[in-house]
Amino acid sequence: EAAVVGVVDRQSAPLLLHEGAVYMHGGEAYLVRELDWEGRMARVEPAQVGYYTQASASVTVEVMEVLEEEAGPATQKARGTVRILSRPTSYMKVRLYTHEILGWGEIDPERVPEQEMETTAYWFNVLPETAALLEQEGLINMARDDRGPNWEQQRNQARDRDGHRCRHCGAPERPGRGHDVHHVQPFRTFGYRRGENERYLEANRLENLVTLCRSCHRRVEVDRLVFGTLSALAHVVGHIAPLYLMCDPRDIGVVSEVKSSLTGLPTCTIYDNAPGGLGFSEELYKLHGTLLAGARELVAACRCPRGCPSCVGPVAEVGEDAKANCLRLLELIL
Ligand SMILES: [Zn+2]
Ligand SMILES: [Zn+2]
Ligand SMILES: [Zn+2]
Repeated sequence: EAAVVGVVDRQSAPLLLHEGAVYMHGGEAYLVRELDWEGRMARVEPAQVGYYTQASASVTVEVMEVLEEEAGPATQKARGTVRILSRPTSYMKVRLYTHEILGWGEIDPERVPEQEMETTAYWFNVLPETAALLEQEGLINMARDDRGPNWEQQRNQARDRDGHRCRHCGAPERPGRGHDVHHVQPFRTFGYRRGENERYLEANRLENLVTLCRSCHRRVEVDRLVFGTLSALAHVVGHIAPLYLMCDPRDIGVVSEVKSSLTGLPTCTIYDNAPGGLGFSEELYKLHGTLLAGARELVAACRCPRGCPSCVGPVAEVGEDAKANCLRLLELIL
């Protein structure tokens, strides 16, 4: 007989109740078998699995109105109203206690519609000169989006060649959502500069391209530290902000973007995780310097060698060098 195990708010449901998620309730673990979004119900069953799941979403921030902004020596801070669009993409299975990553799963995008929320947010971006410095030192890669003029064409050819299936796990593409195409030798190592050279031709050769589903791609890129430095910073900031705000960590959301649509620069946004906002962004705007200094202090003091859930995030998520890179980034912007 079916019984109600628990209730989850609409905001958190996509990340906690996707198929394959381990839902923890009252000290018991349940495996989610089916999510019925329209019916507002997930079917779960008790399970002894020895791992927990952690879902990630692709989150987009659209700034609706800037209410206040101020530039400092290396960063510019701002606050305003934003629209947050989020869609769960994949999840990790993490072994209990050791935090070892056991595997990845993809979340079916057709099961959960894109979530949209209007709220208030505080954000800061790195100023252009500092961003250039970060790029020079290899801490971030802003040119990641410019793959040269033949990219679309090469990308489609690679997908056709691979039969629109992930070359790692064989997953087929779903309607309306093509797989990623990945550079075996990283694109940036070719040193392409738009208008200056034609090295994209070499980089985008079909032999250098493979079709990968989102979760296989993410795993490959994590190995290469592409998600590294900014995600690490977002992780720390998201970790300490609730201490200053004296709020629950779930009351805020943190997004890092290497090139935000508003500023075109590396940007970190902390939004109030409730429609209309909770008043935290004003507070964080005032705390900007304190927050960054606190972040540096925390990362420097953490005893883990390369990163852990209480500072920059687990190594498997942010990459081997993320802790060192994040400290360097904080040094440059403080
Ligand atoms: Zn795959
Ligand atoms: Zn890639
Ligand atoms: Zn740590």
